[in-house]
Amino acid sequence: MKYTPPFYGSAYYPESWPKEKIKEDIALMKEMGMNVARIGEFAWSNMEPKEGKYDFSFMLHVVSELDKEGIATIMGTPTCTPPAWLTQKHPEVMIVNSHGVRETHGARRHACPNNPVYREYTRKIVTNMAQAFKDCDSIIGWQIDNELYNNGNDGRGCCCNVCYGKFLEYLKEKYETLENLNRTWGMYVWSLNYTEWEQIPIPRNNVWHHPSYLTEWMLFQARSYKEYCDFQADILHEYLPEDVPVGTDMMPFLGLDYEDMNEKLDVVQFNYYRFTPNLWDIALWADYMYNVLDKPFWITETATCWGGGVACTWHNDENLCIANTMLPVILGSNANLYWLWRNHFAGQELMHGSVVNSHGRPMHIANEVKHIASSLRKLEDMINNTYPKRSEIAMHISHHAWTLYMFQPMVNGFDYYNAFTGDVFKPLMESQLRSSVISEGMDLSKYKVVITSFVPHIERKELNKRILEWVKEGGTWIAGPMTDIRTYVANKYMAKPFGMLEDVTGTRLAFTLPGGRKYTAVSDSGEVLEFKENANSFDAYEADESTKVLYKYREGYLKDYAAITETKVGKGRIILLGSMPAPESFAGFIKAIAQEEGINPFDASGNVVVQIRKNTETDEDEYLACVEVTNMEGYITAIFDCVDVIDGSTYKKGERIIMAPFSFRVLRKI
Ligand SMILES: [Zn+2]
Repeated sequence: MKYTPPFYGSAYYPESWPKEKIKEDIALMKEMGMNVARIGEFAWSNMEPKEGKYDFSFMLHVVSELDKEGIATIMGTPTCTPPAWLTQKHPEVMIVNSHGVRETHGARRHACPNNPVYREYTRKIVTNMAQAFKDCDSIIGWQIDNELYNNGNDGRGCCCNVCYGKFLEYLKEKYETLENLNRTWGMYVWSLNYTEWEQIPIPRNNVWHHPSYLTEWMLFQARSYKEYCDFQADILHEYLPEDVPVGTDMMPFLGLDYEDMNEKLDVVQFNYYRFTPNLWDIALWADYMYNVLDKPFWITETATCWGGGVACTWHNDENLCIANTMLPVILGSNANLYWLWRNHFAGQELMHGSVVNSHGRPMHIANEVKHIASSLRKLEDMINNTYPKRSEIAMHISHHAWTLYMFQPMVNGFDYYNAFTGDVFKPLMESQLRSSVISEGMDLSKYKVVITSFVPHIERKELNKRILEWVKEGGTWIAGPMTDIRTYVANKYMAKPFGMLEDVTGTRLAFTLPGGRKYTAVSDSGEVLEFKENANSFDAYEADESTKVLYKYREGYLKDYAAITETKVGKGRIILLGSMPAPESFAGFIKAIAQEEGINPFDASGNVVVQIRKNTETDEDEYLACVEVTNMEGYITAIFDCVDVIDGSTYKKGERIIMAPFSFRVLRKI
């Protein structure tokens, strides 16, 4: 490979500017310390101005001009923005919403992922691009489409006849008989059962559809986008050199299964937009992104300052650009790009933050960008020769759970994203027990403790079987609340409340109450645990003699029922959480379990994300890296004698090091 990480740059749209601006832009990129630009993702009309008339001369010129100044290229396939000649000739390729209305030309990501005509145009443009650019040795990777998602529009994906036809085929293959489908979905409720396949409807937003049907529809939509991505990946892999990685932009939401999406891809690419109140949640996503392919990932988009369409969306304080950029770097990214280089002068997003403004003048964050560029050069060894040490605690994130809750939140006010990030991840992060984030199919063997909260269905990818085996080998599994309580299509289990948890724990669920009242529980030794009051549910357990009651409820209908139980299974144990503890209680509870397993938190304030980096060759701890994420002062304690790679200051093991608001430090062991 001609260029090596770390890569630092931005998205660049030279096709909307006069050609003479290119040299000016590239000179400025170089001055800012950037070494990569991402182009092409929306430029279909530039590369195929008329049907079948391919012209890559402009983009080849841009790639070459960038390369002359030592700037690499990430090339995007432009399939989220079909040109007007295509949509005019084939309006049938456009997405149909759940009201039956077909989209028109004028936006982006509005073509059907299943439409065969669109697939054919996709095949042609991607094939021609791959052939045109395959010999450009400054192209360090490819990006498929742009931010594929299935719940845009009005939350039902594409409701066109092609999607519907494929959905029926998918159901026939999966269920074989209608009777099987009717029974599995539970369609005898309200006489909804079908007697012919064609009676299965296309989802409409004005109909109170059966949630199992909607769940299956959205899982099918997610699968359709994965197939569309695979379709492009296969073409690119056929033509491109083997060492040029292919990926697709993903976003911090769970409408698609990112583990599945990356099955055929070579590099995880991630786009996110965060500001002061929620920057911390990128600690979660960056961890997950690393785990998807177990290797460095790319940030293909983030903001330098603010987001925005036709209006700026927020104001960011000094140095947020630094914290925002460095957070994924310490957690495992080796390419970091902004959206966008030069602010547009027209269009739907002309007020978005950028590196230089529409007139080519550096934005107010220019010095922060230059500081990051020079810092990244000093971090080459950390980025290229070490990897982020995984926590021994993991927690499950689930696209399937997200889809199930979309149609059945189960308790009033419950929001899966907020529950997972705010109630499960954040309390542990703030108590410096930051956990590794994994999805259902990922390897469990690296972890001592696994938390599976709010995952109603655990049979997908045989998680139920695999996790039980892992427990038997010594793992501590913290399950619940709202875990293992639903089938694949979001129905209750008919015979009992759990798929397997009652069978393997000796705990019986007596009843469940919804949130809306403050409950507490107490342990034998008198420790009191508070539960989250709202958007929560409360399971009342009865334990048999094989099971230890860790906490009992103290109030109301729940009084004296078990709230949290522990059962030894093989060499390990299952801890059943009947309800979600309030953040402080949850952190204290997990901290105690972690200590039993020999896992200790970092000595650092809760506003600092800390990451140890291990040497790839020796596997020794080599760097202690950290970022302050709340715009407050914080601290970390040196775990070894070390030198700050950026400013050269040295610290002794055990020394407390102050972290300024939105600052980062990378400390190398000496
Ligand atoms: Zn469709």
